Amino acid sequence: MRAFLAERNAFYTDRLKRCRQFHDIPFTTKQQLVDDQADSPPFGTNLTFPIENYTRIHQTSGTAGKPILWLDTPESWNWWLRCWAEVFKGAGVCRGDRVYVAFSFGPFIGFWAAFEAAQQMGLMTISGGGQSTEQRLQSILQREATVLVCTPTYALRLADVARELGLEMSRSSIRVTVHAGEPGASIPETRKRIEQSFGAKTFDHVGMTEMGAYGFECEKQSGLHINEDEFIAEMIDPATGAEVEDGQKGELVLTNLGRMGMPLIRYRTGDLSVISRDPCECGRRGARLMGGVLGRADDMITIRGINVFPSAVESIVRRYPEIVEFAIEIHRHREMHELHLKVEVAGNPNGVAERLAQEFSNDLRIRAKVEPVAEGTLPRFELKSRRLRVVE
Ligand SMILES: [Zn+2]
Repeated sequence: MRAFLAERNAFYTDRLKRCRQFHDIPFTTKQQLVDDQADSPPFGTNLTFPIENYTRIHQTSGTAGKPILWLDTPESWNWWLRCWAEVFKGAGVCRGDRVYVAFSFGPFIGFWAAFEAAQQMGLMTISGGGQSTEQRLQSILQREATVLVCTPTYALRLADVARELGLEMSRSSIRVTVHAGEPGASIPETRKRIEQSFGAKTFDHVGMTEMGAYGFECEKQSGLHINEDEFIAEMIDPATGAEVEDGQKGELVLTNLGRMGMPLIRYRTGDLSVISRDPCECGRRGARLMGGVLGRADDMITIRGINVFPSAVESIVRRYPEIVEFAIEIHRHREMHELHLKVEVAGNPNGVAERLAQEFSNDLRIRAKVEPVAEGTLPRFELKSRRLRVVE
């Protein structure tokens, strides 16, 4: 594979030719990909084949800047679908299931891959494109869907609208929900809330537009299995780049083995986690990310010297079933960062702010200002939520 890419892929030629072994190959970073596409628009130089061989184009969500475009050949796309099939198999999705994909089918890759993978597995696959949240709920009920695929945020949004409409989704045919795009489904409180709302078992998985769907949960739900048939996983210290031992927190570095059209070698994912190689009760061996992705290196917030991930904030907020939506604002006050949390409370907000502030102080050791706001005033999300805002 190395010789093949070194001959054909301009982005990797130099990197690969200079190195004798895998561990000598320099890391690939997101910034390098952004710069490469800016220098050689529109697609950059990470192309192994002539451009006419590519049949699919997707883009990253651009959370941290300009989106990156990602191209696939039919062979690379089939590889993506194989990886997604492992996500479904891990969740126990099988013949006879009906998969509802609650998504508007834009340029983002995850749901296209989920949709086509389900179809390839021989499952009835139902598109949620071009529909309102209410129409999607009706569609799930009328078509007797058994599997729901969406972001964790959107699952809660569906549940919220169902509640307003008096629809009992916990009595629908949905038995499994599969999520990605955000750490939500690995946050115990968020997972519990989705499971209760749909009367289903909730599964997380992890993937990235530029990498592939690399991790999935099995029915034992004990961390995220890394699909090591298709990816090489390494863990490094984000500050030094040095290798980190199993059991220690680090940044995940991945190499995908089947996406030849636009590959990534030793890519710094920014995902922080802990690897365990103890065998799982499900019988699978190999690396697992314990507790899922704990956060991203680039979205950590520092409040008066204490490092906090938005997922830690979410895990506390979701303890309150009466909070329907929330937003985190980081205010800078004389070089000090302060956390302001806005919460939308259904019903009586009395005491919620005080109790939340107390939990932030107990669990995270930070002082937070909690402000209840009127229902319906905070933004709602279908894709990745953008609940964190820095106010200068
Ligand atoms: Zn397992």
